[in-house]
Amino acid sequence: MTTFTDLGLPAPILKALAAEGYENPTPIQEQSIPHLLAGSDLLGVAQTGTGKTAAFALPMLTHLNKINRQAGPRACRALVLAPTRELASQIQASFATYGKFLRITSTVVFGGVPIGKQIRAVANGIDVVVATPGRLLDLMDQRALTLGEVELFVLDEADRMLDMGFVRDIKRILTKLPARRQTLFFSATMPKEIADLASSMLTKPVQVAVTPVASTVDRIAQHIIFCPTRQKQAVLHKLLEDSKIERAVVFSRTKHGADRIAKHLAAAGIPADAIHGNKSQGQRERAMAAFRSGKSRLLIATDIAARGIDVDGVTHVINFDLPNIAESYVHRIGRTARAGADGEAISMVADDERSYLRDIERLIRRRIDIMPLPEGLTVLPALVEAERQESPRGQRPPRRSGAPAGAHANHGGGRRPDDRRAVEGAGAAAPRPSRAPGNGPARDGAQRTRFQGR
Ligand code: AMP
Repeated sequence: MTTFTDLGLPAPILKALAAEGYENPTPIQEQSIPHLLAGSDLLGVAQTGTGKTAAFALPMLTHLNKINRQAGPRACRALVLAPTRELASQIQASFATYGKFLRITSTVVFGGVPIGKQIRAVANGIDVVVATPGRLLDLMDQRALTLGEVELFVLDEADRMLDMGFVRDIKRILTKLPARRQTLFFSATMPKEIADLASSMLTKPVQVAVTPVASTVDRIAQHIIFCPTRQKQAVLHKLLEDSKIERAVVFSRTKHGADRIAKHLAAAGIPADAIHGNKSQGQRERAMAAFRSGKSRLLIATDIAARGIDVDGVTHVINFDLPNIAESYVHRIGRTARAGADGEAISMVADDERSYLRDIERLIRRRIDIMPLPEGLTVLPALVEAERQESPRGQRPPRRSGAPAGAHANHGGGRRPDDRRAVEGAGAAAPRPSRAPGNGPARDGAQRTRFQGR
């Protein structure tokens, strides 16, 4: 088996890796590091959880240390672009960890916080800048940072950068980089648009692909629970009674949804913080710190906020709803099963999310096992009260999960995942109710039939 020593990394880095408890390189590290040390460009198809941060940070630190040069004022020697503040912070923390026995300086810059401290951090020149694109451009526009001395450039999570609309920013940044540089390009997926962007930036790149989307998820036990939207909160509370869920990220498609989930959990005495783009940097950091330290067992997150979150020991990912972009499902469930551990993902699927489920199953090339709706769901009094206050003209909210326990047996209670075919048959024969969801008891019967099939 290849060791970090075999890869040609210097002693101070080996010491830092040993201190971190890393025993052997991960496949992407093994495949990339020798080429990167030799100065090649790299096109890496890999997502978080594969060890890709160290795959680029270790050879970069080695290079910066070997060619020991001080960057000029307002300049940097290495630039890493990442799509979100969380990911940028984590990458910079990795540089600090792996480089702790070297004299390499690094900083992180991102928006949403005052710029003054960031300007001061780069004023005398710095080795490594990890940045989100918008704030980097602000610094460049204010002439607080120039890119003319960049020797090493990394574009991380390129697919997400494009999803988030950063393509023009990236192209502007590229025009300011020296032509002579080493470029590393990482993306979890490689649709044509990304491949075109990569080929415009890279020179004769070495290509490394690890854990393609379809196989990354194999270590994660995945389940779906068919469940009407109005029952999801009660299902979540029920699931959380299981002590096997030691540390979980609960995903919501929207910021408002994330807040609502957290509020209803709090009303039921279950502490949980939500992180999303409307939260201040301070709130996000506090929520992350509570989750990381184990003070809080749950983190409620939107896709973008959760991007790159790297917390060890996440036993479960719970999708309160399914993402409308299939790749996001893979990113979401990748929050568990980090660094070789196993994990479990449970997704609640409402009737109007079935097309998302189909896309996801096509992408991961497998059917996800069905888990029966938990028995004994109760109306959550705090929830009803909260919704009564929210609903216009003080109307009563639609009836929640008050269906008798016996009804849940029809729903799939006791049904095993491998009974899927029989279930599908039943679903296909079931008439679609004409009624709009959410209108009283008659609908419960219709929903039961509807949710049997997929
Ligand atoms: P990444 O894909 O860069 O987000 O890394 C995922 C996780 O794997 C992080 O928690 C790293 O600290 C950890 N990690 C990276 N490389 C190794 C390694 N060689 N051995 C053990 N853990 C690692």
